[in-house]
Amino acid sequence: MTARAPHRPDVEILPAESPAPSGATDATDRRWMRLALDQARAAIAVGEVPVGAVVVVAGAVVGSGHNAGITTHDPTAHAEIVALREAAAALGNYRLSGATLYCTLEPCPMCAGAIVQARIARVVYGAPDPRAGAAGSVMDVLAHPALNHRAEVVGGVEREAAASLLVEFFRARRGEASA
Ligand SMILES: [Zn+2]
Repeated sequence: MTARAPHRPDVEILPAESPAPSGATDATDRRWMRLALDQARAAIAVGEVPVGAVVVVAGAVVGSGHNAGITTHDPTAHAEIVALREAAAALGNYRLSGATLYCTLEPCPMCAGAIVQARIARVVYGAPDPRAGAAGSVMDVLAHPALNHRAEVVGGVEREAAASLLVEFFRARRGEASA
C-alpha cells in the first residue's frame, strides 16, 4: 500500500503495526472491523439491517457506511457500496487499489462485483452469509478465474459480534410483527 490517504480530521488513524505477510495483523483487522461494527449499530438506529463497512487505505479510514436501502429507496445502498462510494470520492479515484474493505457480513454478488470494479486488494468480513455470500459461501466472485481482478479474502473476523447484531435485529423485528 503506497497511496496516502488525504487528511480527514474525522477519521481514526491507527498506529502502524508490524505487518503480517498479508499486510495486516489479526489485531489490526479486528480493530478496523470494530469500526465497521459501529457502522452496523448505527444502521439499527434508523431501522436498517445492521451491516457496516469501512474502507482503509494506508492506515486510515477513507470511507464508511451502513446499509441504507430502506431509508434512501436505493436497492444498491448496501454498506459496502456506500463505503466504496465515499472512499472513491475522498480519493478522487474510482480505483481503490491497495485498499482493504472491512464489512461485517460477507459481501453479496452485487457488492462483490463493485469490489472487483474498484480493484480492492483485500476484503475482510465478519459473518459468512450462507444465503447470498459471494466471497466463497454460495459463490466466489472475488476469486473467479474469469474475472481480471481477484481480492485476498479473510472471513470470520469478529464473526460473533457481526452475526449477533443481525440475529438480534431480525428477532426484534419478528417480535414487533407478532405484537
Ligand atoms: Zn451487498
